Amino acid sequence: MTELWISLQDIPAEGREFSFTDQSLWTGPMKELHVPGKVGRPFEASMRITPQDDGFLVTGDFSGSVIQPCGRCAEEFELPLSGDFDSFEEPGAPMDDLEDASRVRVVKGVPEFDVAGFLWEQFLLALPEKPLCSEDCKGLCPQCGINRNQGSCACAQDNGDLRLAVLRNLKLQ
Ligand SMILES: [Zn+2]
Ligand SMILES: [Zn+2]
Repeated sequence: MTELWISLQDIPAEGREFSFTDQSLWTGPMKELHVPGKVGRPFEASMRITPQDDGFLVTGDFSGSVIQPCGRCAEEFELPLSGDFDSFEEPGAPMDDLEDASRVRVVKGVPEFDVAGFLWEQFLLALPEKPLCSEDCKGLCPQCGINRNQGSCACAQDNGDLRLAVLRNLKLQ
């Protein structure tokens, strides 16, 4: 996993802006966790970190795109991904409680923020469970495998009509 920790020690009270464009922050975990596809429009993130009493306020946004196979027709398409974040981060026990894993660790008294882990989390939040090339993607014909967005087949119509299917089954019996 790509790691990037930034020191939170010298951040002034009014906060500090960071921007991240190193693609390995996204391509690293994509490869490691076998997320299908590759980066299309390069990812970039801007982040503002503001110290609070017991932690840090992390706000900002990210955007980019991935080229992924459609969940219905398997055709590759460009999926834009973006998101805003507004998160309170505090030092905690990172390892013994995964549910509530902290993105802030303290090394020799210096708090550090897990930027790579945080940005990857944001990426996963933005990623749809089943990416579709378009909302009304017609998918593949389950019988002949033709991509119904690109053409039609003889089996397509019958297949979609439940009443016909029922009639056909009745005739068979
Ligand atoms: Zn599709
Ligand atoms: Zn067909």
